[in-house]
Amino acid sequence: MPLDLPTLFLVSTCIAALLGIFLLALWLQDRSVRALGYWASAYLIGGFAVALWVISPEVLPAAGADLASALLFACCGLIWSGARKFHGHEPVAGGAIAGAIVWLVATRMPELMQWHNARVVLSSLIITVYAVLTAIELRRDRRKPREGKAARARALTVPALHGVIFLSPILTTTFFTGAAPFAADGFFPLFALLTLLYIVGTAFIVVVMAKEHSALVHKTAAMTDHLTGLFNRRGFLEASETLIAAQRKSGQPVTVLMFDLDHFKSINDRFGHEVGDAALEAFAATASTNMRSNDIVGRLGGEEFAAILPGGTETALMVAERVRAAFEKRGVEIAGHVMNATVSVGVAEALADAADIATMLARADRALYAAKGAGRNRICTDTEARDTAKQEKPALAPTLAPEVRKTASATQFRVSADAIPA
Ligand code: GH3
Ligand code: MG
Ligand code: MG
Repeated sequence: MPLDLPTLFLVSTCIAALLGIFLLALWLQDRSVRALGYWASAYLIGGFAVALWVISPEVLPAAGADLASALLFACCGLIWSGARKFHGHEPVAGGAIAGAIVWLVATRMPELMQWHNARVVLSSLIITVYAVLTAIELRRDRRKPREGKAARARALTVPALHGVIFLSPILTTTFFTGAAPFAADGFFPLFALLTLLYIVGTAFIVVVMAKEHSALVHKTAAMTDHLTGLFNRRGFLEASETLIAAQRKSGQPVTVLMFDLDHFKSINDRFGHEVGDAALEAFAATASTNMRSNDIVGRLGGEEFAAILPGGTETALMVAERVRAAFEKRGVEIAGHVMNATVSVGVAEALADAADIATMLARADRALYAAKGAGRNRICTDTEARDTAKQEKPALAPTLAPEVRKTASATQFRVSADAIPA
């Protein structure tokens, strides 16, 4: 079936422009996916470039075709920039237009362009570099496992298709030169048709990716505490379930830490609510920087924070002491006020097989109250809390009210900083 080249180019121009407008409208609706703005521009400029390609022989002879190709390379740069933005990295402006510049400079050098297939080789190389850069960018963000395998597969499909489609002229002109259907001229209608399929296909993939990304952004916002940037209660519980499930597979224990800032009401009363908020932010930052990247930490509400760590009590005590000591130091002065803020910590361990996050939090909370009762600015494990409760008040132990627990004498609850490796 003969393919009419001008018609294909005309259809490509219209479809690219329509998809550009469609992506632009989506971006205007939901600005949280800023990559859409770059991708929409790429489609619009791409449509314009193809139109220029078609009309250039009549209007602007050779220079027009070179300009059209340069614009197409700039589109590749924009697609790459969009991919960077998609994962929160700033686009590299120089890199995005480098392909177009290299092309414009090279095509002004007739001795270079005389070389067999020089144009095809150079344009395919530029496109391949951008396809590889885009693929790397879309694969890069490993901190978002929730994006799932399907999204990752799609993230690779776009640049792979992009590379194959635009690389095909170099292969065909190299291997089939002279063979009637694939000779450089004869190949172009097929190339134009493939390009058309490519732009429609990738636009669909881009829309799906943008929608998933936007849903993830909203879900993340719903699981984040706005003051501290940590997980909120809901996010913490969800992330804890994931960690427990992972530990269950390896038969390892998990440990929960409950943190409660000491005399926080008095901090609010003396310095005001805003300074109180600054103390909460300072604690959140101290806790995050003193934990490992696979530990999960969240703000459960008010001045109560919790963390869940893979491993047993021994490791958790090290982490708890690191956070306690770091906050004792950080809390001396906050927002220009000397306040000597401190934190108490309760620790509870369970085997992942038997771990239930609600029960673990309740056990860690009991240990926390024991730490408070023992004088605050200290750490207590729930085993220590239980043992002491049994020794001192056996009859009351299972149902101790917080006020009763707070009065328990428990200097032995203090975990000596010297006994814990840094
Ligand atoms: P303890 O050492 O026993 O923990 O004493 P506390 O004063 O810290 O405990 P209490 O639970 O009585 O006080 C918690 C205070 O935290 C009361 C409340 O006003 C304050 N608070 C809760 N949420 C926020 C918040 O978002 N910002 C600020 N600044 N204060 C908050
Ligand atoms: Mg409290
Ligand atoms: Mg408190």
